[in-house]
Amino acid sequence: MNNHVTILEIDGNAIKHNLQYFKQQLEADTKTLVVVKAFGYGSEATEIAKFLENDVDYFAVAYTDEGIALRNAGIENPILVLHPQIQNLELIIQYQLEPNLYNYKIFETFLALANIKLLLNYPIHIKFNTGLNRIGFWYTDIPKIISELKETNHAKVASVFSHLAASDDVNEKEFTANQIKNFTFIASQFFEHLDYKPSIHMLNTSGIINYPEAQFDMVRLGIGLYGFGNDIQETDALKNVVSLKSIISQIHLIKKGESVGYNRAFIADKPMKTATIPIGHADGISRKLGNKNYAVLVNNQKANIIGNVCMDMMMIDVTEIDCKEGAVVTLFNSQRMINEMAVNSNTISYEILTGISQRVKRLLKC
Ligand SMILES: *Cc1c(COP(=O)(O)O)cnc(C)c1O
Repeated sequence: MNNHVTILEIDGNAIKHNLQYFKQQLEADTKTLVVVKAFGYGSEATEIAKFLENDVDYFAVAYTDEGIALRNAGIENPILVLHPQIQNLELIIQYQLEPNLYNYKIFETFLALANIKLLLNYPIHIKFNTGLNRIGFWYTDIPKIISELKETNHAKVASVFSHLAASDDVNEKEFTANQIKNFTFIASQFFEHLDYKPSIHMLNTSGIINYPEAQFDMVRLGIGLYGFGNDIQETDALKNVVSLKSIISQIHLIKKGESVGYNRAFIADKPMKTATIPIGHADGISRKLGNKNYAVLVNNQKANIIGNVCMDMMMIDVTEIDCKEGAVVTLFNSQRMINEMAVNSNTISYEILTGISQRVKRLLKC
């Protein structure tokens, strides 16, 4: 065994199950891009990418460094860098990463660099803003982009894409339909004016679930791979991927009236048994979960977090639980627990997963 006791276990078989679940819902010729940004949504990007390299068409990361890490791990699939900066473009080329070019400045800088380096048909991706108002060109930019593309053979558009603003929200169907309509128009302009056909893609996980008619050539699967759909039914069809475990470092028997933790936030109203766990807010357990706002599992029984969550530790109430020092503590091992952790700390599953800090050892099991 290793000397780490606080571990994020990653279930490789669950990942494959989830990937297959989404693939089965797609048309046979729709390609799959798997998003492994932010350390694979807080799990482990390089090992997961290695594990899936033969099952997916593309990987995507947010930043250049994340793409370099995949290349250094020997990943040979195409890698789309969703949010590169101008100062990253040299490295992008050096590591054969494929940049998303989302404004004129980065688009033109890249074309100039491709020209200097005499690249031939280097794959680039052009992103359009259709309502999220985050990054991307406007449709009014199309003529200028296309005329510049026609004058170069140093770069070639591998894909044109956009991103939905509210794909998980059924109350926003009209807005979303409009995004899809506008994106379809944008794509048609590229088909009409280029003498080759770039790939077209728009859907993230909840898009795949709610708007399969907009799957175009490829989909970008993120959170779904890690076990979360839009709603409880969808999530239940997926398998949980990550489990966070630690152990009991020490048990205390305290008297009525004694306090636990910083600022004496918890006061025992009876004789109690408390356990101290080596995981805290620096590991990604929000302070909002302290003071009984979340219960972990010891011996399959719920144990409330008591007092304030410390940086490296927290204390739980194990008065009614038969347990010893060294016993396993499960912070979460199901989507239900992760969702509960999210709701109780006023956030969403994405933030819980990506918030588990790098201090926690990752262990991929497959
Ligand atoms: C993160 C991201 C995705 C994946 O989204 P999920 O909701 O996790 O499936 C897809 N596309 C873009 C542009 C992203 O930034």
